[in-house]
Amino acid sequence: MRLLIVSNRLPLNGVEKDGKLVFEQSAGGLVSGLSAYLDSLKSTSTQDIEYVWIGWPGITVSDKLQPEVKNVLEDLHASPVFLSEEAMDKFYLGFCNKIIWPLFHYFPSNTIYDRDYWLHYRDVNKIFRDAVLAVIKPGDVIWVHDYHLMLLPGLLREKLPDTPIGFFLHIPFPSYELYRLLPSVWGQEILRGLLGANLIGFHTAEYAQYFLRSVLRILGYEHKLGQILSQDHAVKVGTFPMGIDYQRYHSSPSGSEFEENLKELEQLLDGFKAVLSVDRLDYSKGISNRLQGYKLFLENNPQWCEQVVLLMIVVPSRIGVEHYQQMKRQIDELVGEINGRFGTLNWTPIIYQYKFLPLDSLLAMYRQSDVALITPLRDGMNLIAKEYVAARTDQTGVLILSEMAGAAKELGEALIINPNNLESIAEALQQALIMPKTEQKKRNQVMQQRLKGYDVMRWSGDFIQELLQVQKEQSPTLPLGQHKQTLHTYFQEAYKRLLLLDYDGTLVPFADSPDQAKPDPELLDLLKALSTNADTEVVIISGRDRANLETWLGFLDITLVAEHGAWLKRRGEQWSLSKPLVNSWKGQLLPKLEMYVDRLPGSFIETKEFSLVWHFRQSNPELSAACARELMDELIPFTSNDDIHILQGNKVIEVRNSEVTKGSTGLALALKQDYDFILAIGDDTTDEDLFTILSLEHSWPSGLKPKTFTIRVGTDKSKASYCLPNYLEVRNTLQELATGKDRTVGGIGVNA
Ligand code: UDP
Repeated sequence: MRLLIVSNRLPLNGVEKDGKLVFEQSAGGLVSGLSAYLDSLKSTSTQDIEYVWIGWPGITVSDKLQPEVKNVLEDLHASPVFLSEEAMDKFYLGFCNKIIWPLFHYFPSNTIYDRDYWLHYRDVNKIFRDAVLAVIKPGDVIWVHDYHLMLLPGLLREKLPDTPIGFFLHIPFPSYELYRLLPSVWGQEILRGLLGANLIGFHTAEYAQYFLRSVLRILGYEHKLGQILSQDHAVKVGTFPMGIDYQRYHSSPSGSEFEENLKELEQLLDGFKAVLSVDRLDYSKGISNRLQGYKLFLENNPQWCEQVVLLMIVVPSRIGVEHYQQMKRQIDELVGEINGRFGTLNWTPIIYQYKFLPLDSLLAMYRQSDVALITPLRDGMNLIAKEYVAARTDQTGVLILSEMAGAAKELGEALIINPNNLESIAEALQQALIMPKTEQKKRNQVMQQRLKGYDVMRWSGDFIQELLQVQKEQSPTLPLGQHKQTLHTYFQEAYKRLLLLDYDGTLVPFADSPDQAKPDPELLDLLKALSTNADTEVVIISGRDRANLETWLGFLDITLVAEHGAWLKRRGEQWSLSKPLVNSWKGQLLPKLEMYVDRLPGSFIETKEFSLVWHFRQSNPELSAACARELMDELIPFTSNDDIHILQGNKVIEVRNSEVTKGSTGLALALKQDYDFILAIGDDTTDEDLFTILSLEHSWPSGLKPKTFTIRVGTDKSKASYCLPNYLEVRNTLQELATGKDRTVGGIGVNA
């Protein structure tokens, strides 16, 4: 197996030394974690595991130098994606950092919706696609990282239908209310891009839930236990909280530099309690809040003056962006104000450094600080929090952590604060500084166990394993996408075609009440177009009553089947019962259902000639689930009378005659003429009868089994051979059959 890791930046920094371009390994959490994971695979597996990292080399490289850089990087398992300065400016500083970053971190007021940025984002994602296609080999597995490349899985899927593609988002995914602020075309395209992956990972279950909700509201795709059926494949959405390389922070680096750092800090902090604060300069990190909280702490607790020091490291980031420069000025001023107001000749309350610290220095800081104060306003994970806990080899130390950091979900033993509540920061500082050592150890021991158990190797291993598993587990009901061409060919080549189409949930979306799901002009045109050919018989095979179907569709030149097969109106004929049926049982059961209408507000009964339906779509979901279970229990004894059957459908419970089904009536229609092509589409348990019966052998009029396509709408397990995600895709597919053209390009979205 070969793993292609794709991220915006390579784990290498291109720097100019003595007029030459050289590449130095950078040691971010992801890099060290993945390298350790790959090493561990090598040592435990007989399989040959290779990897190539694809990304921007951190520097603009002239056309002339590119071949040489490529060669150098090849030896370092890296494949560079060269980007112009303009592309980096509009794509990276523009779309990524002025749109996605602020919006996904809940700073919509910092977002600049510039179309030019969007166009560059699309272009750069295509450049990355081409870079992947240039190196991909059969058997490779692709893992795409982060918000810079959200269109990439979809772009790759178009070219690589069978390759396992994983995607991990390292920042939060926002709630639907925020996500929808993106211009709708961008929002749709990004979701479709992400759904190109087989597996999409998030740090927390909340981010995954928010994503699933946006997919449902914007694209109309439902999920089942985190599994979405996209246009042509199943996508799993999962939670994988990223860990750290635990041992790296828990052990001491060899070499004198670390020891020297420790000693220097020890001298500096002698006689003081140290509170550590480390962040990249970013508005999401809540640095000002932290300083305000510290100021309030000193105001409220003068006894701590000259006793405590805040060691504040701010790492330069996105230098050159005005917003960040402004933030830097604000921080500088606030530090000056606090130091000026509280400081004395012997004491500086805040020791402030604006620089990046290498691992040795950072680790020394972690070891020498009594408290870590981490207060982001929003953070996908926050690795600093985890690193601090791991670095406390004697298990002392107190972590104060914002509840807005993804890491707070795993580090519940920390002092959890709300960064907008300055009092809570001040109080937590006081609590941390007086916390007995035994208590500190008790808390840290639990957190260390957790961090050690789910480290970054485990994180990457779990993700890759799940990705390969999802790929293997593709349901026996295949997404229609890749088989559409065959469907087209069979349809075009057939002499006599039968189309058996369910109505609700298949051709129209579910409405709050059944009489609202009227066919729209587009659907009527589609049915007309399909039925203009005398050799194509269109059948609407529905659970609705005949009056309803007659009013809505009776004027079309098609066949109608009502009440799940009880009533039939063949093309150009009158309604007739497909079989003599009784309905005397209705009088007995109606009062039972009425009782449940009284119990469940918003529910109601629909009475048909041969069935009774209790609808609860508009009712409270939890209450309806409980009532539905009870009603089923109560009704089951009535089924001993063989004439009736109870079925639980989509937010309905239906009691109906069991002697006819969509299967029996559908088959009767299929055997009436010598069809050589049958297409059946449905979304419900009642359609399963049809799918099953069509898969069996019968005495076909022509002596030959017709070419049969059965399609289930949605993600439920099915007897159908294929599936489609929703009614829009059904319409698209039928439209393509009617016109002989592919309309899927560009797609259609629903804003439910
Ligand atoms: N880091 C570092 N030197 C510094 C500050 C931070 O090496 O001076 C590293 C730190 O060890 C951590 C990462 O940068 O692994 C920051 O990750 P985090 O998730 O906390 O924040 P991000 O910057 O990714 O938002």
